[in-house]
Amino acid sequence: MHFFSSDFKLGILGGGQLGKMLLYETRKWDIQTKVMDASPEAPCKISCNKFVQGDLMDFDAVYNFGKDVDVLTIEIENVNIDALEKLEDEGIKVYPPSRALRTIQNKAKQKLFYTDHDIPTVPFTRFAYTSEIEDSIQNGGVQLPFVWKSAQFGYDGQGVKIVRHLDDLKNLPNVECIAERLVDFKNELAVIVARNTSGEVRTYPVVEMEFHPEANQVEYVICPARIDEAVAEKAQKVALKVSEHLNHVGLLAVELFQTQEDAILVNEVAPRPHNSGHYSIEASYTNQFEQHIRAILDLPLGKTDSKLAGIMVNLVGSEGHTGDVVYENMEAILQMDGVTPHIYGKKQTRPFRKMGHVTIVDENMARAREVAQKVKETINVVSR
Ligand code: ADP
Repeated sequence: MHFFSSDFKLGILGGGQLGKMLLYETRKWDIQTKVMDASPEAPCKISCNKFVQGDLMDFDAVYNFGKDVDVLTIEIENVNIDALEKLEDEGIKVYPPSRALRTIQNKAKQKLFYTDHDIPTVPFTRFAYTSEIEDSIQNGGVQLPFVWKSAQFGYDGQGVKIVRHLDDLKNLPNVECIAERLVDFKNELAVIVARNTSGEVRTYPVVEMEFHPEANQVEYVICPARIDEAVAEKAQKVALKVSEHLNHVGLLAVELFQTQEDAILVNEVAPRPHNSGHYSIEASYTNQFEQHIRAILDLPLGKTDSKLAGIMVNLVGSEGHTGDVVYENMEAILQMDGVTPHIYGKKQTRPFRKMGHVTIVDENMARAREVAQKVKETINVVSR
């Protein structure tokens, strides 16, 4: 099949920043695209060939959108999977495959998949309703403290809550959920695995999330992770195992905990380009978005090594600011060497909304880390 400068059409479900960055690559290779998103102001709107406004969870909307594309992919996992299955049955190539998506979309199913396949993960109990947890605690089942996670539709920490007292359960929605052991981890790591339809596989280097010591928010994604080689190898091995058993096609970002004893446990996976791979646009031989396209079109996968040390800083809306966005001190960060800001194109900011990111590259990791801190202290995402 000819993909480049041809009639081939790639469909993308979701029109946010991940889709927008995927479209830099389809533009680079002159691949025709069609994108669907619920918001008429989706960041993808200006760079795709055709934009369709529609609800990603609606069967008809997804089915009708997918009928006339050659390959269909996603940039968010909350999409109507029944529609994807029907499209697959009718011969449309859907990557990631609907089966893998179905396992991933529900956190309880995802966790059972890990235990079924002997993939190390944090011990958990599954509940049909949050209201059943109290009984379990009283009967000596679940122990406090634990981490409550809604099985479906969690995103960016919203479906996750640390429960320390019985009272904390009161404010949680009464939905299907899991209660997971609270891990005292040394590091949060991530590995992106790329797999094409022929089964060729490549992993990116292990990255590390560095947290703010008080706010408990990820401040920096650092590549390569500052960990022992043996731990990095173990993390990559576990990530490969997940990708293989899922029969995944495309990118799979595997989020991991490194425990105090250096065990590696899978936290969760995302079947698409991921925040933890944004550094690759500036730092890698093949960035994650190009790699995703190579994988789903069954092209040879690109080299995943880094050319330089890379650090990514998320640009999130400042607290106390809601409304039309302004990026303060952009000129100041643009004066720093090796600094590239990415602005996603969301018109409205609100506290903690992901509005963009900044990548810092340098031959020297310690220097990159210093510059990253300066960037973080300098730039502000506020409202007008
Ligand atoms: P989301 O899907 O919202 O990203 P995650 O499952 O990744 O949810 O959880 C968000 C964050 O909460 C993690 O990055 C980690 O910092 C923390 N977390 C999640 N599970 C646990 C756990 N079992 N023990 C300790 N911290 C956890």
